[in-house]
Amino acid sequence: MTFKELYLSGQVEFEEIDRFISRWNNSDDERTLAKYLGLNAEEEDVWIDDSDEALQDMLDSYEKVAGTPVTLGRTGIIINKNGFGALPMQRVSMEAARALLRKAYDAGIRFFDTARDYTDSEEKIGHALSGVRDKIYIATKTSAKTVDKFWQDLDTSLHNLKTDYVDIYQFHNPAFCPKPGDGSGLYEAMLKAREQGMIRYIGITNHRMAVAEEAVESGLYDTLQFPFNYLSTERELALAESCRKQNMGFIAMKGLSGGLITDSAVIYAWMLSHENVLPIWGVQREAELDEFISYIDNPPELTDERNAVIEKDRKELAGSFCRACGYCLPCPSGIEINLCARMSLLLRRMPPDDFLTEEGQAKMKKIEDCVHCGQCRAKCPYGLDTPTLLEENYKDYKEVLAGKTVRN
Ligand code: SF4
Ligand code: SF4
Repeated sequence: MTFKELYLSGQVEFEEIDRFISRWNNSDDERTLAKYLGLNAEEEDVWIDDSDEALQDMLDSYEKVAGTPVTLGRTGIIINKNGFGALPMQRVSMEAARALLRKAYDAGIRFFDTARDYTDSEEKIGHALSGVRDKIYIATKTSAKTVDKFWQDLDTSLHNLKTDYVDIYQFHNPAFCPKPGDGSGLYEAMLKAREQGMIRYIGITNHRMAVAEEAVESGLYDTLQFPFNYLSTERELALAESCRKQNMGFIAMKGLSGGLITDSAVIYAWMLSHENVLPIWGVQREAELDEFISYIDNPPELTDERNAVIEKDRKELAGSFCRACGYCLPCPSGIEINLCARMSLLLRRMPPDDFLTEEGQAKMKKIEDCVHCGQCRAKCPYGLDTPTLLEENYKDYKEVLAGKTVRN
């Protein structure tokens, strides 16, 4: 056990740090002292630059967090390993959203991520959680392309969220990485909003690797939000590690890869092995929320069995597949691309009858209306040949429908 683990589990007093340090000094241990003590880079910095007391304060704040704590880089925000992704709140009523959000809060979830573009999701957070505003962290986003729209979005978000500040204000999937002096004025607007106390930290979300990497390298951002799960490529996984080195918070979206990862215990166990990563779970149903809440007190371990599931999924889902991000929408022919382009996978990973309904058939039939304008292909951040993918999925769907058998 490391010093940190012993301290957090109440087995040693903080003063005993000296005893640990002298043991290390007198040993031939090749690890760094930070590793020996079990401190992360940020804690090590606090300990070196400030004092033992500052480190003690920081570790003590972990104890106030239910479950496994995650520090969001230099923001110093410490929350448990469950962020609440509030995109699906758009699809439920005001009162159903309130019940879910309050249940999450009561269970110890303290980080809530939403966006100006998620219609009334911000309003629902304001309705449910304004009474506990000082106990939670709110991250929202703007997809503004002009400074005027930036301020308009921020005003609307603050109004809807019933608050006078946002903890993390994020550029929502911009096509480029906003920087001071780039002519857009967007980054300068962020700085001004921070100066005025309307936001506390500056973040960016993205689906494009190049923009995300540029944001990390720029050192301009406190947090990055990016798709992240065990289906991510090596390059995508390296982003989280770069953030850790830069002391930048890393918020993982699409933890379930748009529904393709179906065992929440497996992905949760995998996320636990990435210490600096905060996953935000986009839950819509109470049963889904209950699963993640149960992991606060009983975190699932990455057993051989769970590793085998990960390997199997990686094999089955390797290569190019639609992540359901929706950035190719709208389609001029009204095709629901983010559903239809991954139908073959959904039919094999979820109960197929859910997708073979009249409604499902009508959605797939729309693929026949594709005018091959190529807009979706041009907009897909994963470089997918979307029209071809749609055709392949449609062919497979018709075969499944005809025989009602799903071939793996
Ligand atoms: S190529 Fe087809 S599916 Fe893609 S946007 Fe154009 S019409 Fe829609
Ligand atoms: S085709 Fe590409 S842009 Fe469209 S939903 Fe799928 S991954 Fe996203």
